[in-house]
Amino acid sequence: MAPTTPAPDLANRPGSTRPDRPMVAVRGLQKSFGPVHVLKDVDLSVSTGEVVVVIGPSGSGKSTLCRCLNRLEVADGGSIEIDGEPLPAEGRRLAGLRADVGMVFQSFNLFGHRTVLDNVTLGPTKVRRTPKAVAREHALALLDRVGIADKADRYPAQLSGGQQQRAAIARALAMRPKVLLFDEPTSALDPEMVNEVLDVMVSLAAEGMTMIVVTHEMGFARRAADRVVFMDDGRIVESGTPDEFFAAPRTERARDFLSKIL
Ligand code: ADP
Ligand code: MG
Repeated sequence: MAPTTPAPDLANRPGSTRPDRPMVAVRGLQKSFGPVHVLKDVDLSVSTGEVVVVIGPSGSGKSTLCRCLNRLEVADGGSIEIDGEPLPAEGRRLAGLRADVGMVFQSFNLFGHRTVLDNVTLGPTKVRRTPKAVAREHALALLDRVGIADKADRYPAQLSGGQQQRAAIARALAMRPKVLLFDEPTSALDPEMVNEVLDVMVSLAAEGMTMIVVTHEMGFARRAADRVVFMDDGRIVESGTPDEFFAAPRTERARDFLSKIL
């Protein structure tokens, strides 16, 4: 008999297949765009279930780091492992990897000519080969989970920004990712819609989802982050618990940055 399986959480993510290793292991990552050296020897290790908030000035390389993690960009040097597996270069294994590393963007990036429900079921049916009926049932549960079950048959343009971003989170979750990356998920939202998205993220964090979140929402960092990482000029210059970091940032750059956003 297999040991009792824990009750599936709503995010219904698969557990790590390699619990002895970090879920995300980035070592010596380098990335340039032409002459511009953007990531300069970035090391970052994220444990299963850990929530890491990445902050830093505009242009410091936060988005590029996220994009390298699911290979929207190809790094020039260093290594990335997800759940103990090196990032595959291309092909079918890359599609699988992309499915393991979900991403939520600032600009939602929903397919505008598809309904919300289709947006959520497309990935699982195409990439994970989930039968349509199963994908649909899971999608409806996820839409309910993020509070927009009644929008399943609408098109993205018929939703508010906050609803679109929650649909985008449901779409990412539908792939049952091992890690979720969020790149400034609330920056494009009207202020009154920020919390409805952050609340979903806080509950995902509480359920044990492994998350890397680029955000300047320090309230979210305090509520949900295990660790805050501060990037400046392509490097991680500080890393600590939210309490440590906000109470006593060690570098002048971090102090200066915090004084501007807090
Ligand atoms: P952040 O997300 O912290 O604001 P980015 O990772 O977006 O920073 O950008 C870091 C640097 O890389 C910036 O100088 C930006 O102009 C540059 N950059 C990012 N993407 C590209 C690209 N596709 N081509 C050229 N330069 C880029
Ligand atoms: Mg960015």
